[in-house]
Amino acid sequence: MKVSVFTCTPQFENDLMDAVRIFIGSAETLSQEEGGDITLHHTEETQGNTRICHVTITGQYAGSATREEEILADPLLDKRMHKRQLKNCAYEVMKKATAFHPPWGSLTGIRPTRLLYMDLQKGHTLEKARENLMRSFDTQSEKADLLCDVVRTQQTLPDQKDGEIDLYIGIPFCVSRCAYCSFLSGEVGNGKMLSPYAEALNKEIHATIDMVARYNLKPRAFYMGGGTPTSLSAPLLEEVLSAAQPLLRQCREITVEAGRPDTIDEDKLRVIFNAGTHRISVNPQTMHDETLERIGRKHTCKQTEEAYALARKVGFKDINMDLIAGLPGENPDMFRQTLGWLSALSPESMTVHTLCIKRSSLLHLWEHVLPGGDMVADMVRMGREEARKKGMQPYYLYRQKYMAGNLENVGYALPGCESLYNIGMMEETANVLAMGAGAISKRVNTESGLIRRAPNVSNIEQYIERVDEMILRKQQLLAENLFTERN
Ligand code: SF4
Repeated sequence: MKVSVFTCTPQFENDLMDAVRIFIGSAETLSQEEGGDITLHHTEETQGNTRICHVTITGQYAGSATREEEILADPLLDKRMHKRQLKNCAYEVMKKATAFHPPWGSLTGIRPTRLLYMDLQKGHTLEKARENLMRSFDTQSEKADLLCDVVRTQQTLPDQKDGEIDLYIGIPFCVSRCAYCSFLSGEVGNGKMLSPYAEALNKEIHATIDMVARYNLKPRAFYMGGGTPTSLSAPLLEEVLSAAQPLLRQCREITVEAGRPDTIDEDKLRVIFNAGTHRISVNPQTMHDETLERIGRKHTCKQTEEAYALARKVGFKDINMDLIAGLPGENPDMFRQTLGWLSALSPESMTVHTLCIKRSSLLHLWEHVLPGGDMVADMVRMGREEARKKGMQPYYLYRQKYMAGNLENVGYALPGCESLYNIGMMEETANVLAMGAGAISKRVNTESGLIRRAPNVSNIEQYIERVDEMILRKQQLLAENLFTERN
């Protein structure tokens, strides 16, 4: 559906459209141009210190709304509130016209927990912060409660301390590409890129070990992700993990995302285990072979079961499993079956993702078999219920654009099995030194909220060629000030 947008603040056009897309996920913008299936007009006026915002929509979702807000003295804060005002106005029109109350209301940000933390910092109680969230964004109580539970769990866990650092190694290869994938991942193909990649990566790992020592940093959590780290052969995996040992030895938490069950074998699991890994991910996504085939994951449910049993046999005591709610062709009964199967295995943590299709070509391909928003909401609810039954608590939550049903991704874990790395990443509260193609190193100033990033190039060939430059970028990031101030 195309939406003609006429706004007096073109700089906030995307915010208006964000509100529309809560209701019509595939809505496209026609900027200041007639011919859309619906037309949105946004105008404003000021009276004294009050900004009055009007939104009128004509066409299939007709209606209008007006909101008045005080103009704030702080320009940055006012800009934020201004955007919220016009977005809420467009949201109100769409809500009335569709008679649909979205689970998260008008909230579209990636990290909704941040809103609760901002209120807690102001001295509000969590209950008050919850109320504010529901009032400001029309968020449903079910989601506000979920968010409060996430914050409560996080409050029991240690933050990254001054001088601590998390570490990430990315292996951007997969044996085949899942149809919905939006990650940086190249197919292994004939495997000829793997050795040069590992060689470049080892160089970056050695340089990072030097940086950690030079700046007297204390490694806290390590995460190896991708792609699929186990798409490397056992000897190459061993080479990389051995190179990283001086870092790993100092970490209190080590996770390797094995990911795709079809890449897991006993040799690789032993290499990962012997490197000191505490936590491993084996990701089924669904336990229906026909769905796996439909989404291009070239493994079977049986392979997932075998990989899981093998991981237990090798000695892993902390296994995470990822599921996706809303996969094409699935319904709540199928998701319930997947959950029942997962429950019987009893992993220590699970992540319930909601299908997110960033490539519109795929959306078109699957449109007729994608479960509707209500069905996906049921699946997500079942996931939460199953986690509760198993004694798991939600401990991180994030949202993305283009998620089915406009829902969320939630990490659940048994107490003591939460991943600190995941929290630091999702909340953007942790300093990270990241190695590998597409990996992003980060320094966070927790007081100002300012984040500086040093991204590595995403292209694998470029990364191999320019690894020295990636090392330099990290050195510059560390040299800037935050860490050196300690010495
Ligand atoms: S396993 Fe993950 S990273 Fe690899 S193709 Fe599938 S979704 Fe993408």
